[in-house]
Amino acid sequence: MRKFVKESIRRLESYSMNEEKIEVKLNANESPYDMPINIKNVLTDMLFTEKLNRYPDSKCYELRKRISKYTGLNSENIIVGNGSDEIIKMIIDAFIDKNEVVVSYSPTFSIYKIITSIAGGKFIELENQIGKVYIDELINLANKNNAKVIFLCNPNNPTGMSIPREDIFKILEKTDSLVIVDEAYYEFCGETVIDSVRKYENLIVLRTLSKAFGLAGIRLGYGVSNKRVIEILNKVKPPYNINRLSQKIGIIALENKDIFLKHVKEIIKERNRLVKEIENIKHIEVFPSNSNFILIRSEKYEEILKRFKCKGVGVREYGVNGDLRNCIRISIGTKEENNIVLRALKEV
Ligand code: PMP
Repeated sequence: MRKFVKESIRRLESYSMNEEKIEVKLNANESPYDMPINIKNVLTDMLFTEKLNRYPDSKCYELRKRISKYTGLNSENIIVGNGSDEIIKMIIDAFIDKNEVVVSYSPTFSIYKIITSIAGGKFIELENQIGKVYIDELINLANKNNAKVIFLCNPNNPTGMSIPREDIFKILEKTDSLVIVDEAYYEFCGETVIDSVRKYENLIVLRTLSKAFGLAGIRLGYGVSNKRVIEILNKVKPPYNINRLSQKIGIIALENKDIFLKHVKEIIKERNRLVKEIENIKHIEVFPSNSNFILIRSEKYEEILKRFKCKGVGVREYGVNGDLRNCIRISIGTKEENNIVLRALKEV
């Protein structure tokens, strides 16, 4: 079998999540809030009216109109993906040939590297950027290696840290690369460069409904850029990539955005409370976060994980080696869930 497998994926490990049963699920940066039941009720009617024997709208016309209203950009500047993961894949499919270079920094969202590697591209990262991303070094790295694409995760997963707008503009102006700004966690910080996609022809912004809108189970993400880039991405977009039901659910969620943005406020309040409380716990370092998760680091890593397991809390573990040694990423849950986290940390 091995001889049939593409060289670029022979050594690749499949993306795996900890699927073991956990009671307090804080390992995937999901929202702790499901869609309110009164909105779900509207969705049940949809099952009767939607023609499930017919393919969905391949261009997601109505959904893009809603996203356009939400973002303030035109529909022609928007493409929808089966999660923003799919748009990352479209970008690599459209722009990266074998051995061409993609630049980012570490630690960051691991999918950029995985998708680049599958395509046979070269992923080069500026290492150990846990507290701050060194912009000049990143620009040099991209220029020295003729990078075609640069990924900036803003705010960054898993550090929670943001890159200031001026620094993003500097990267856009001082490199010859396509700059992808992944704003999956935008609503938790409010900072965006989406208003600049018409100004910079090398800028693509990614967003998702998986986090602030609590729709991780629906798989809806979107990319925003100038018309020319969107046309290119449409060439590699799988036909009918967003099913009928997801399109409808996305439209209804955006129509009711205020409900979800109230959830966001609650999550931000809880995040700030958690950070403040953890700052007072000895032996645990907590990084400031602009997201719906926090990153902590401690020499008592193993002991903390043991406490979490005892209480049924699932978190993202980063092990005892590498940039993220002794680090744990904890998604912000409900107040009750966060109290369980705090209790476990204080016990340590
Ligand atoms: N970008 C970042 C930074 C993420 O953390 C995630 C999800 N963990 C995604 C993109 C993918 O989101 P989606 O559910 O829209 O595929």
